[in-house]
Amino acid sequence: MSKITPMMQQYHEIKNQYPDAFLFFRLGDFYELFYDDAELAARELEITLTRRGKGEDAAPMCGVPYHSAENYIARLIDKGYKIAVCEQVEDPQMAKGVVKREVIRVVTPGTIMEERAVTADANHYIAALSGKDHERLAYVRTDLTTGETHGGTVGSEVSDLEKVLLVDGLKEVIFPREELPAEWEKWVKTAPFTISYEENEDMPDAYQHLYNGSDPSVCAAFGRMLHYLARTQKRSLAHLQALDTIEAQEFLQMDVHTRRNLELTASLRERKKKGSLYELLDDTKTAMGSRLLHRFLERPLASKMEVERRQTLVHQLVDDMLTRAQLQDQLRNVYDLERLAGRVAYGNVNARELVQLRTSLQQVPEIVDLLPALGEEGLRLTKDVDVCKALRTRLESALVDDPPIVIREGGMIRRGFHEELDEYREASENGKTWLSNLEHQEREATGIKTLKVGFNRVFGYYIEISKAQLPYAPDHFERKQTLTNAERFVTPELKEMENRILEAEERMEQLEFDLFKRLREETNKYIPHLQQLARMIAYVDCLQSFAQVSEERRFTRPRFSEARTMSMINSRHPVVETTLERGAYVANDVQMNERREQLLITGPNMAGKSTYMRQVAVIAVMAQIGCFVPADEATLPLFDKIFTRIGAADDLVSGQSTFMVEMLETEHALKEATSDSLLLLDEIGRGTSTYDGMALARSIVEYIHEHIGAKTLFSTHYHELTVLEEELETLWNVHVRAEEEAGEVIFLHKVEEGRADKSYGIHVAQLAHLPDRVIERARTLLDEYEGEQLSQIKESNLHEQVPLFTYEEEKKPVQPVNEKEDEYQAENVSEQIRDMDILNIT
Ligand code: ADP
Repeated sequence: MSKITPMMQQYHEIKNQYPDAFLFFRLGDFYELFYDDAELAARELEITLTRRGKGEDAAPMCGVPYHSAENYIARLIDKGYKIAVCEQVEDPQMAKGVVKREVIRVVTPGTIMEERAVTADANHYIAALSGKDHERLAYVRTDLTTGETHGGTVGSEVSDLEKVLLVDGLKEVIFPREELPAEWEKWVKTAPFTISYEENEDMPDAYQHLYNGSDPSVCAAFGRMLHYLARTQKRSLAHLQALDTIEAQEFLQMDVHTRRNLELTASLRERKKKGSLYELLDDTKTAMGSRLLHRFLERPLASKMEVERRQTLVHQLVDDMLTRAQLQDQLRNVYDLERLAGRVAYGNVNARELVQLRTSLQQVPEIVDLLPALGEEGLRLTKDVDVCKALRTRLESALVDDPPIVIREGGMIRRGFHEELDEYREASENGKTWLSNLEHQEREATGIKTLKVGFNRVFGYYIEISKAQLPYAPDHFERKQTLTNAERFVTPELKEMENRILEAEERMEQLEFDLFKRLREETNKYIPHLQQLARMIAYVDCLQSFAQVSEERRFTRPRFSEARTMSMINSRHPVVETTLERGAYVANDVQMNERREQLLITGPNMAGKSTYMRQVAVIAVMAQIGCFVPADEATLPLFDKIFTRIGAADDLVSGQSTFMVEMLETEHALKEATSDSLLLLDEIGRGTSTYDGMALARSIVEYIHEHIGAKTLFSTHYHELTVLEEELETLWNVHVRAEEEAGEVIFLHKVEEGRADKSYGIHVAQLAHLPDRVIERARTLLDEYEGEQLSQIKESNLHEQVPLFTYEEEKKPVQPVNEKEDEYQAENVSEQIRDMDILNIT
């Protein structure tokens, strides 16, 4: 360390404060990285690794030019890293010794604001946690680009963590300290976000007004968030909005798996918006509207009043096509007010963005005027809205139509806005006219036709004469610069004019910059009003989108039943419907009520069982976000929770056995569901051996029937379970119809009463082109088994609740075929058949 230069000493001092971030150390026109940072960054960014210094003490180093740093930062952020940006904070010319440097901001995945790093139609969250008591976990989530924060409390199990942290757009989570509860540890390690720590959880005085709730844990989580933001952002966060407390019971609750399974905001396969309900419903015109729609889908309502408010407006908008079209026209010209407000607060808004703000504000009065046409609900939206007229006028008079992005080179402020500025401008323009006249005059005076007046940054204004014409140059021309073919001159007059022009321009630029900063500060005061406007506009945009899509797709307004009735005529799955040819989707009815709480759905593979179940849940979600639904008529209860257990692709990556995942999810559903919930259980028990699986499936259905009473759709390939209809009062059989024609199955996708009479597995195998011999053999075996099975079913007396397979009691326990041990040998043919995995085969 003794040989280390003072600058490297400074580097180490700063780096020690930011051990978990890349330190971008400003050195002239570059940000340099050293040591481990340099080696890692060189690899991640594919840039050249060099060395600073000589011999053994040489430090690995790499660097990026400061003007393109934003790009490199965005790339590192995308990989989940953090970057501490360290600037020279004094003029190097003035510095005595090493130039003073300071970290001016730590950019992290959850706090990046730069446009290229955040998606316009998605929120970008950072979360903070706190657990004052150990039973519950408090969380807050902030979108720094818009200033929104919401939060609440949940339990403290891993499934609760999933609930609050596996949300779209969440990039970073702030934990109280490094050691986490053991059960979290493993989950957190594989989590798809960056992890940060902050110990301080006292609510900072300056932000007290943002939380007026009473829960100390939520307050602590918010405090933690604010300390972290202050520590990393090091600037005013005037755009942060008050915390919006989420009371779980106000919303329709769904766990992560359910949201994913139903493909509400992303498709299962690609994890993208494409193919999701979100995409289907999104005909919003503004980025704010699109983000709000996403939030609607993540948190459908559970309060009838609120849902009906939205419905009423959607209804009006469906009927009043003219108002809808006019609103859409206005909305198209509204920019992202929320994020613009964020950039104003951050102090990095440019003139072009202020013009976007102005354009947006110009649309507002008309939007506000249109709303009362939508009745009382429309009128209600216009209350307390400040259209920010003064700000709009100010921006109109201050800024030109199309200003540049750079704010230091003038060209932003409109003529007539500031007298002094206009004077400089005039001086500069006069000077330029004088110059263009000069060329003409000097050509006349000297007789040199090719004489030119020009400008360059190094020598300023000059008169240029080609080599051939040099002899004609007058004596008062002073030589300034020699080129291969020409000579450049100045004259005292020209010098003087140059000084005047440059001075005027320099002042102009400085003055414009000052005026712009003032304008930005004035805008700053409007932030809360702009945010409120943004909320109103996003809401209107979202509802007009519902209306538009509802009309185009023939959705109807659902009614809500107090009597827990779910009745739908000709309902469709809105997304699957769009993937098929027009009219190819088979609409289905749903009839459930207090006497008909559980439906047991049978039917061959590929018949449409799981589509039917998803359709019911998707419609319930659509209804509870206030949208119309794909059915001719629909009446629904207002559900409190939806659970789905549908075999999904993501089981494969979780590292747990499929069956274990299935059981964990089922356990979760059975524990949390109430009589007001909706349960979708697809082929429960499929993951284990037949008897095992069937026994579990049956006892789960019985449990739901006895103890929960939730509306349940239960699909199964265990045809034996259909006899439950006789035993369980509120359980009914339905089946998805298929027909056989000339040895082939035809799927009708029609849901009908009663149980399916046949399993078509062999036909599906045939469709999949399994060898003919396999198919034939299977048919022969099936005939044999069916004879056997019938006699078994007759044996079992279902009404007395004896175990499903009575012979198991008498003989040794039947073991699943795949676990069968060698010594267990069947003694005769009938026993062999009994031990086969019959039900899986059929
Ligand atoms: P299952 O769960 O019974 O195996 P799925 O619900 O996965 O069957 O449906 C299989 C395929 O059948 C789907 O991919 C879809 O294309 C088609 N399908 C399902 N329901 C319908 C319907 N109501 N109308 C038209 N096609 C349907």
